[in-house]
Amino acid sequence: MKIEKDRVVSFHYTLFEGRVSEQGQEALESSKEREPLQILIGHGNIIPGLEKALEGHEAGDAFGVDVAAADAYGERRDGLTQRVPKKHFGAQRLEPGMQVVLNTNFGPRAVTIEKVGMSVVDVDLNHPMAGKALHFDIEIVAVREASAEEIEHGHVHGEGGHAH
Ligand code: ZN
Repeated sequence: MKIEKDRVVSFHYTLFEGRVSEQGQEALESSKEREPLQILIGHGNIIPGLEKALEGHEAGDAFGVDVAAADAYGERRDGLTQRVPKKHFGAQRLEPGMQVVLNTNFGPRAVTIEKVGMSVVDVDLNHPMAGKALHFDIEIVAVREASAEEIEHGHVHGEGGHAH
């Protein structure tokens, strides 16, 4: 069964930063020691470049895919620096370059610390992976039809999926 919209794919992935020719560095993240990731295709559940690369493959396929920044977490945007009162960070020790999760009006958001002042902190609101090309090594484990309920909800149910 081929991967297409409204099917559920289980796959293992290993994520690298940069393109395949630049590799040799350690993986940023891998699902190999965990259960495979399960995704409902065609509902925006993973970055667009990876979703597109999965389409048409089937269980047993193994391949690598390069994803440009624009098809991953987007390009970095200028002007996304924000000054935040230090008290919002609690007691944690802050250093430039550090990534922290900040509770905002829009919910928790990963930000990067730019500058730490006496009472305020400048943070960069770009996604930490913004502007980065990524490489995934993929192994497709299984492909199945999604249930009507999964399609309606836009995500996977059952084992390894969304629990209600
Ligand atoms: Zn649901």
